[in-house]
Amino acid sequence: MTSLIWRNALVTSFSLFTLATPHAQAQTEADKWDLSALYPNDQAWGEAAKSVATLIGPVEKCKGQWGKSPKTMASCLDVYFKAQKEAARLSNYADQKVSANGDDPKAQAMKGQAGKLFAKLGEASSSQNSEIIAIPPAKFKTYRDDPALSKYQMVLENIVRLREHTLSAEENKILAYSAELSEGSRDVFHALTTLNLPFPNVTLKSGETVQMTAPNFGKYRQSKDTADREKSFQAFFGTYKNFRETYAANFNSMVSRDAFYRKAHKYNSDVEAALGEANIPLSVYTRMIEQVKAYRPLLWRYLKLKQKVLGLEELKYSDLYLPLTEDAAPEYTFTQAKDLARATVKPLGDEYQSVLERSIKERWVDVYPAKGKVGGAYMDGSAYDVHPYLLMNYNNDYDSVSTYLHEFGHAAHSYYSTKSQPYQYGEYPTFAAEVASTFNENLLHHYLINSNKDPKFQLFVLGQILENFRTTVFRQAFFADFEWKTHELAQKGNTLTADLLDKTYFDLLKEYYGEAEGVVKVEPLYAVEWAYIPHFYNHFYVFQYTTSFIASNALAEKVLAEGPKARDAYISMLKAGGSLYPLDLLKLGGLDMSGTEPYKISFRAMENALIQAEALVDARAKK
Ligand SMILES: [Zn+2]
Repeated sequence: MTSLIWRNALVTSFSLFTLATPHAQAQTEADKWDLSALYPNDQAWGEAAKSVATLIGPVEKCKGQWGKSPKTMASCLDVYFKAQKEAARLSNYADQKVSANGDDPKAQAMKGQAGKLFAKLGEASSSQNSEIIAIPPAKFKTYRDDPALSKYQMVLENIVRLREHTLSAEENKILAYSAELSEGSRDVFHALTTLNLPFPNVTLKSGETVQMTAPNFGKYRQSKDTADREKSFQAFFGTYKNFRETYAANFNSMVSRDAFYRKAHKYNSDVEAALGEANIPLSVYTRMIEQVKAYRPLLWRYLKLKQKVLGLEELKYSDLYLPLTEDAAPEYTFTQAKDLARATVKPLGDEYQSVLERSIKERWVDVYPAKGKVGGAYMDGSAYDVHPYLLMNYNNDYDSVSTYLHEFGHAAHSYYSTKSQPYQYGEYPTFAAEVASTFNENLLHHYLINSNKDPKFQLFVLGQILENFRTTVFRQAFFADFEWKTHELAQKGNTLTADLLDKTYFDLLKEYYGEAEGVVKVEPLYAVEWAYIPHFYNHFYVFQYTTSFIASNALAEKVLAEGPKARDAYISMLKAGGSLYPLDLLKLGGLDMSGTEPYKISFRAMENALIQAEALVDARAKK
């Protein structure tokens, strides 16, 4: 279960598998990342690869020796982490080259070579956990407290805390055979969705005919024309409806897979199996759903405001994606984005600002779209001895600026944690990762609101804040709730048929969007939306979008209100990397995620944004 192999490439917002379209942006060397900090050239990489390959033999020799003595275990962990660290650096270089140009066969070959080294290392260290767990608890205590192993205490504890959920080497071997098989439902989902679904053509009000594929649905659900929006929704979800039995059978098989692993690893429920690996208590999950549901009236109030601004007689589910303001969104060049970033991170102090300057000066970022370059944005912090790299497809729009701040938040997190922690604790858990990134988005909103008092601009920013709450807090919590309910239904012996999935989804839709309260009218057709959501195949992952957002929002509010003391607590959380469990990391940062305080602070911020937006809309109406 627990793997000591880590990579820290966080992918956000977009799919990594779509290629970016070339952009007419003038590109200079300064806008491309400098990979020479990793290796001066490909030849040096090749030499390094040869020497990294020699690091695997010593790890192989540890087989059967892991529990021999504290000293042996310490030296085995030393060689293991050394190999891991160097292989990660190799892989980092190859990955960035492939991302920058997927058509480069040499880069592809390097990536393949690095991947093979990782696989070899995984094989060489495969008995590590089971050998460590096989040490009887009383004896293990003397190991853990031995000075030779003091720097690995948390690593060891993290392995043995899963003792009762870890299988014997022989059982694990059999379970490993199921690994490829277990991806079946995800593969079927993607093949059906991206290749086989016959999305129909829709004729819009303008007379134009478009095929209602996912990208077009993403575009036309924001159409200003009510009939066009509704048509898009109906054509899109109508297609899913025609295939709902296939999607349901596939969903059911994915949940059966989770049940298989739950039983094999002896967990009480699927959700506990998913949370157990990262040591997140179930109460964090249930607290999140309870709290978000309790604050639904704020969502409803926002949606009512939207309805008013848009002048709609009733608000339908197909109206939700309309922006709060029709005014043109602001645009920023990347030079302006850098200045915005400088101003935004000021409350985080001198050191944080100097990391930003370093990232600019040392060219950590690959900025613009280019031919062969991968789409979306990510941060890769896996080169422990070097520095993080960021990939973007900067497009001059507001989202690009926000993405830049987001990815830089990840980079600063990696910078602090690798500078402050030994390699084995340089990686931080996902639960904390998206706090560091969305924290910066919060700071950006605060900076923008205070920097420009033009009512149109203010309403634009407030719209961004409120939409974030709608999509990241309420919608993701709703998904997490659905995931939980469906897995529970299955565990109680139900087959997840299309009817049962539709009903479960529809009931939740009405509950979250306040149908009984007269807020949103939801058509029964949209009950099939569950079939469209890819995240359900990443089991029990989405709840972290909500918890991270709530945590970062509350932390940003605290830092801005309380100053240096709260800021230092936040930075110490970044510096702690993976040396603590997720909940303890957040506690160090100043928040108890098992309690209600983060929700109270965060939703108060939402209410404030709502009050300001309502006042601006009223003032506009009076003109
Ligand atoms: Zn992220």
